[in-house]
Amino acid sequence: MKKLIMDRVSCHVTARCNLRCKMCAVYIPKLYELGNVPEYDISDIKHSFKTYFELVERVRLISITGGEPMIYPHLAELIEYLLNYKESFSKLEVFTNGSITIPESVLKVLSKSEKIVLFVDNYGPEISQKVDEIEQKCKVFHVKYSIRKYFGKDAHMGGWINRNILPNRLSDEKAKEHSQKCVTGRLGGRLFTIFGRIITFCATPYCGYRIGAVPECDVLHVDLIDECTTLDEKYQKLCEMCNAKFNPGCAWCNGMGIYENMDRFIPGEQVK
Ligand code: SF4
Repeated sequence: MKKLIMDRVSCHVTARCNLRCKMCAVYIPKLYELGNVPEYDISDIKHSFKTYFELVERVRLISITGGEPMIYPHLAELIEYLLNYKESFSKLEVFTNGSITIPESVLKVLSKSEKIVLFVDNYGPEISQKVDEIEQKCKVFHVKYSIRKYFGKDAHMGGWINRNILPNRLSDEKAKEHSQKCVTGRLGGRLFTIFGRIITFCATPYCGYRIGAVPECDVLHVDLIDECTTLDEKYQKLCEMCNAKFNPGCAWCNGMGIYENMDRFIPGEQVK
């Protein structure tokens, strides 16, 4: 079995968040409304990454996201665990919304490798009240960090785009076009996401499935810790997802970077 080379994998550790952003790309406010807010078992996530690195020789970038990762009680343990595989990745990004004090245990582990960067999203002084505190602590603990300004006229990327699930399924032809053009779906830069025990091709269809807006049959995924399938079978399925010309889940999404001049929205604007 020739191991795979991948560009990017993200890991959603929790759907819990202290914010309720109107245009949340992973529909966290809707999950709260439905009373179904998953947080993933640390042993499942570690097991998934163990299998992942049995199948993947190298990945350029690992991102730890959520929900708000700083709420996840096992974040330091997960980062420490991933450092066992540091020869197999180039960079590890951890995200936070700038509104939560970062636990000292997390700061300590973030400082353990030059490959780790903390991304602090700043939605303005009313929401991201801890940005200055986080910056000071990063300096004290020698953590590499980057602050992204998401407010005002010069907001990062000009603001957020609408990532809502489309009300009606597009044609397969349109979905193919989206798969091939989208910065998340195109070959070579494809983003996979781990949710507990499963890995999906792009987080969007699975997040849509979680809120009942996308049927399961349109979500390409592999269960990384399923004992009923062999490692070789998991490998075959992951290869298929890596090489697929067509993600059926793209039929529910307008994609990223496909259409020019897409409307921009105020980042982090809260649901009233
Ligand atoms: S079009 Fe949507 S579902 Fe498809 S890869 Fe892009 S973001 Fe993901």
